[in-house]
Amino acid sequence: MYDLVIRNLKFPSDPHLKDIAIGDDGLIKEIGTISACGKKEVEGYGDLVLPPFVESHIHLDTVLTAGTPRWNESGTLFEGIQIWGERKKNLTASDVKTRALEVLQNQISYGVLHVRSHVDISDPDLTALRALLELKEQVSPYLSLQIVAFPQDGLISNQDNQNRLEEALRLGADAAGAIPHNEYTREQGIESLEICFSLAQKYNRMINVFCDETDDAQSRFLEVVAMLALETGLKNKVTASHANAMAHYSEPYMARLIGLVRDSDINIVSCPLVSSAMQGRFDSWPKGRGITRIKELWKAGINVSIGHDDILTPFYPFGTGNMLQAAHMAAHLAQMTGKHEAEEIINMITHRGAITLQIEAQYGIDAGKPASFVTLPARDSFDLIRHQPMCRYVVSRGKIISENEYHLPRVNMDVLLKRQRR
Ligand SMILES: [Zn+2]
Repeated sequence: MYDLVIRNLKFPSDPHLKDIAIGDDGLIKEIGTISACGKKEVEGYGDLVLPPFVESHIHLDTVLTAGTPRWNESGTLFEGIQIWGERKKNLTASDVKTRALEVLQNQISYGVLHVRSHVDISDPDLTALRALLELKEQVSPYLSLQIVAFPQDGLISNQDNQNRLEEALRLGADAAGAIPHNEYTREQGIESLEICFSLAQKYNRMINVFCDETDDAQSRFLEVVAMLALETGLKNKVTASHANAMAHYSEPYMARLIGLVRDSDINIVSCPLVSSAMQGRFDSWPKGRGITRIKELWKAGINVSIGHDDILTPFYPFGTGNMLQAAHMAAHLAQMTGKHEAEEIINMITHRGAITLQIEAQYGIDAGKPASFVTLPARDSFDLIRHQPMCRYVVSRGKIISENEYHLPRVNMDVLLKRQRR
């Protein structure tokens, strides 16, 4: 007898409903029309079933701090960094853990079970990093959390960050970061990337660079990241987040760059919620939105995933943690409205996110894999993007860890018609 059987679930592009049987080891045992019973039987109501959502870019150290000590009135990255610089002087371990845990719980209710968080390491005590490494252990039975050591103030502009980056990797950070466009000069930006890559090699870690998060068409660090990924052989262990300047590159340059990025096998993460609010702040009209070329990169065969990014921070005063909200924004800004394109947008918050995080081996709904998946009242990708429904069930390693009996509101037509007749 199985531990748990969930009946009548709709797999994408499969017209027949199927059941999923889970063993007491938390693994999927069987998918199909299952005659055997489970110790626990659950009705799936014909809901769409997907592997869990993947958040490939968030900052859990900054979440829920918007307005402290003040609001970002200009909306720019620069004012955001200034305000965060003031707020981070007051960080304590419990402050970081309390806010981060609240957001992780929200994310779980939205079906997110894999999270990559950047953590600012420009603090001599590495308070936030240590707190999030502890939290990573605490949540590990049901959620996988990756930590990127992120030198917000640069590695050359703030030389102390070189030692802190190494210390962060020694303490267990999963990936090394850099922010080359924020260094004083182009040369220093390249030097910061070389330091980041050599430390990642020394400690055998992944890399996630904040890359060209600016509307400056002269910011061209993605080519350096791609070249270093090729030269070091780190390839798909390397991710570049944002790449907003690409929105402004000339076509001849882009034609060369896109081939290099494809050959380098690196991943690109776009954060359409935050970028659409923060980029273009220096433009008059027409006003750019600084979104990287999601559709063109994907069509060129490059792995692109979508991050939700900030939730109530000095950089972005909105956000819920629901990946479908980010998907909705991406579909609009990247103009991905075709059938296959809408499916691909959902891929960018599921399978493609798993590639960015390098967790594909344990990811997906197949017999033998961990029973981690979500069920949602939706028929297809269009429903998911339109309605952004809550998950009915979030299953992590064989256990239902979040349930939501929310249904789309039903209008009582009888009452409405009676009123009209009066
Ligand atoms: Zn970010």
